[in-house]
Amino acid sequence: NGLQVAIDGPASAGKSTVAKRVAKQFHYIYCDTGAMYRAITLQAIRQGVSFDDVDEIGKIVHASKITFEPSDDGQKVFIDGKEITEAIRQEDVTNSVSAVAAIGEVRKQLSAQQQEIAKDGGIVMDGRDIGTAVLPDAEVKIFLIASVAERAQRRYKENIQKGINTPLDELQLEIEARDYKDSHRKISPLTKAKDAVEIDTTSLSIDQVVSKIADVINK
Ligand code: C5P
Repeated sequence: NGLQVAIDGPASAGKSTVAKRVAKQFHYIYCDTGAMYRAITLQAIRQGVSFDDVDEIGKIVHASKITFEPSDDGQKVFIDGKEITEAIRQEDVTNSVSAVAAIGEVRKQLSAQQQEIAKDGGIVMDGRDIGTAVLPDAEVKIFLIASVAERAQRRYKENIQKGINTPLDELQLEIEARDYKDSHRKISPLTKAKDAVEIDTTSLSIDQVVSKIADVINK
């Protein structure tokens, strides 16, 4: 059936890139839980709902159906059948997602959906609270870190490829602000699970990180 593999860590530490590769190598499902928080945030923006309107955001999370479809470079994301793969990566979503992710009802609903997706194993799930809250019994828990300078640099390069040119210092500030909010919220804040294997990817290649994780899975 396959194991549950939880990959957590701060923003832009390379979680989704390596999670997709690990999933492919083991023929596991890949699930990007950040995309689910982003989808709810996008929906709130599109409906003009304020991020402190906890009740309205709660309604959105109950009413919206988030689905995934595998694609060549990972997965496509849909909300109520409409594709939002690109839209959830926009800057306005990135800047507001931590506020939405701090809302209890949002976490409760999305965590339950994530547990349902992962229940049969054979899954690589990346996020912030997978090893600590969503899948506390996951057989494999990885905590990926990298220096903030390196993470900003990686984002910068990714952006350039997409034709976006946000200054490096701005990216670094955005990453630091999001990590701060994600690790200081009340409900399941970003933190390393006691039994997680920490991997510092600052000076490692993607292949090296994937192979370290494969070693943990094969142990
Ligand atoms: O992984 P990604 O950067 O796309 O996640 C976007 C945001 O979603 C995070 O900054 C965090 O606020 C939230 N998130 C979360 N719990 C998860 C995954 C993401 O709170 N398991």
